[in-house]
Amino acid sequence: MKTTVSSIEGSRQGLFINGEFVAPKAGNYIASHDPTTGKRWYDLAEADADDVDAAVAAANAAFRNSAWRRMTQTDRGALVRRLAELVRANADTLAEIETRDNGKLLKETGAQMRSMPDSYHYFAGMADKLQGDTIPINRMDTLNLNLREPLGVVGMITPWNSPLMLLTGTLAPCLAIGNTVVIKPSEHATASTLALAELIHEAGFPAGVVNVVTGTGKSAGEALTRHPGVSKYVFTGSTATGRRIAGNAAQNLVPCSMELGGKSPHVIFGDVELEHAVNGVVAGVFAAAGQTCVAGSRCFVEAGIYDKFIDALVARTGRIRVGLPTSDDTDIGPLALSDQLQKVEGYVASGVREGARIAAGGRRPQKEGLASGGWYYEPTVMVDAQNDMGFMRDEIFGPVVGVMPFRDEAEMIALANDSHYGLASGIWTKDIDRALRFANQIEAGTVWVNTYRSASFMSANGGFKESGYGRRGGFEVMHEFSRLKNVIIDY
Ligand code: NAD
Repeated sequence: MKTTVSSIEGSRQGLFINGEFVAPKAGNYIASHDPTTGKRWYDLAEADADDVDAAVAAANAAFRNSAWRRMTQTDRGALVRRLAELVRANADTLAEIETRDNGKLLKETGAQMRSMPDSYHYFAGMADKLQGDTIPINRMDTLNLNLREPLGVVGMITPWNSPLMLLTGTLAPCLAIGNTVVIKPSEHATASTLALAELIHEAGFPAGVVNVVTGTGKSAGEALTRHPGVSKYVFTGSTATGRRIAGNAAQNLVPCSMELGGKSPHVIFGDVELEHAVNGVVAGVFAAAGQTCVAGSRCFVEAGIYDKFIDALVARTGRIRVGLPTSDDTDIGPLALSDQLQKVEGYVASGVREGARIAAGGRRPQKEGLASGGWYYEPTVMVDAQNDMGFMRDEIFGPVVGVMPFRDEAEMIALANDSHYGLASGIWTKDIDRALRFANQIEAGTVWVNTYRSASFMSANGGFKESGYGRRGGFEVMHEFSRLKNVIIDY
């Protein structure tokens, strides 16, 4: 791969359409900023409807006519495996690029990039496993078949918090199954997806199988989600944007798979080892400076240990090191966008006005060595929270946890389920019956017991309620990216 952080610095990045990097037709570009300084570090193409049209046309041509369509399942799987190995060989560079783009810790993006090849290999194995059924029909001399086939062009719209890892879980199975793809990455973290496009080209995918259109949601995103040539949309992002995209897609009766926001409950019972649970809560909410969709940002603690838990949580939070995302000594880096920083400050201030108290953090760090223009915020613990306060209801997507006590299991489950989101949840207890009752009653797509944020591409996962629909991961994903055709044959 030729692309590096230095080659991107100060450059103009083009679009990847029909197997080559091209300039946007109208010649428009927008700036992408470095979260550690707030300064512009490169320009990305602002694709418009004409560029999107070219990308969708290329993807449709590749789906219908190209070598891609004629390729055997084994060869298609081998191509996805070749991409896996190119990702492995370039993992460090991809991690450096993504960290520079979104401010996520280099050790975390590095771990993500190094785990991605396994995911590509797993989904590559699906290439020769897409199969239908032979079905009874109550007639002699007739064969009744359900064939399973790829959908066509899949439009993928991704967020800025983990662009490549989130993309892998859908791109890899989509390609293995034989679809073609148009990706629209976030305008706030585009560079790693364009670097991946270079690897896709190097791997030898036929032109048009994967295309990348960059730019804002208003321009490239709207054009893609209104395009009649797309067969399915896969969206990962906020609930508000998901609603908008589902509305656009509905005009063309195109189905969507939606991975949206969350406000996940994290429950602590008094029977646990306190330090273990506190570490779990800290890792569950402050990882990536709180910018994870599953962040356990509403913490419910059994009343008997509430004070002790707060003391331990505040002490542990005070030891978190905020700093440069490239340093090994950093626990949390900056927020990815200046808008995010302002949003976090706004929710903490409104929480205080509503009666919550800041027990830790609650401000920008006053630390030497951090550029004054960087978008840093201290990990923040808000106590005396109530479930109806704004910062407890809305997704903040920043390093803020609200903590409140509960008296018994019935009250806890009512509080935990009192949210329009339903993405994830966690419980810490030694009582397995209680944990199973929680798993049974909680309205969330993922339940963690005595752990938080561990995940596997081998299991299906996704949201309930306004956190989305459709499933990623496991064999379930083969149904997301294929369709059935009924064939009846008299003989
Ligand atoms: P966002 O909704 O602002 O943007 C996501 C993507 O949608 C971007 O590429 C953006 O350009 C595009 N977009 C915006 N408006 C559009 C429009 N009108 N039409 C088409 N595309 C449009 O989200 P974000 O700020 O990038 O990411 C943070 C959000 O993503 C949080 O809500 C987080 O919870 C969610 N998220 C969810 C998951 C999950 O798996 N459930 C994973 C990661 C992030």
